[in-house]
Amino acid sequence: MYEPGVYHFSFQENFGNYIFQGSRLSSGKYHFQIGVLLTNPHFFIFSEVKNLSGKLIFDTEYNQLIRQLDDREGYFKDPLMQVNHQRFQFVNWLQQHKFNNKIPIYFVVIVNENSKIEPRNNEDSIADKVIRDTKLLDIVISLHNNHNKAFFTKKELQRLQNLLIDSHILSDPEILTLLNLNSEDLLTGVICPECTQLPMKRVHGKWICLVCKATSKNAHLQALHDYALLINPTITNKELRKYLHIDSEAVVNYILKAMNFDFTGNTKGRVYNLTSGT
Ligand SMILES: [Zn+2]
Repeated sequence: MYEPGVYHFSFQENFGNYIFQGSRLSSGKYHFQIGVLLTNPHFFIFSEVKNLSGKLIFDTEYNQLIRQLDDREGYFKDPLMQVNHQRFQFVNWLQQHKFNNKIPIYFVVIVNENSKIEPRNNEDSIADKVIRDTKLLDIVISLHNNHNKAFFTKKELQRLQNLLIDSHILSDPEILTLLNLNSEDLLTGVICPECTQLPMKRVHGKWICLVCKATSKNAHLQALHDYALLINPTITNKELRKYLHIDSEAVVNYILKAMNFDFTGNTKGRVYNLTSGT
């Protein structure tokens, strides 16, 4: 139903964050899968989302996570150890692919509000590294305030992004919910494929980047794809005008027609299915 893809958006603060989920990478001898990776030029955050309710006992001595729910106990691998291990493999992977692997890479385990976090040992490090989904945006903002140095150029991030896209990515439309983000946290508009700024401006059938002046005929395809993944698999002309920053109903009609999306309803109320079409 959903095409594999990359979560290609910025938060409202426009930090240029990208989210990758479930990329399966090869480090030569073996494969490893990354949970959720947030990237920007200054730092990366590696995270593992544990959507478990009940009491979560983090036992770093025996490297286990114990979940107690309704008088029952379940045992899981220690997610902190898992995500730290992934991080270690990812640092090597970065080096193999000639990226700067000195970029600060944080790791967190994200749990939702239906769980009670209970450290069995190492309280301080667990308090730092096991966080509520509601806290993620605060952490991103505070890290941005503390990291001015850019370790990646836009071009390098683009290359990283392409490699991650080429690797097997499992997409999940629930990603925003998992990270406790709203669609209002997303910036709208078409992202420039050259410099990753947004929004591009539609002029005479082309997209023009107001920052780097690059032009593109089909940069909106990624935006439509993101919309389907992150917000809603269906869209109306009016919603798409708002999302793509286009005033003209006729221009958006033209774009929708060209994509051959299936639709229901007539004229103004028409709802297009973004997962159909060419
Ligand atoms: Zn640009």
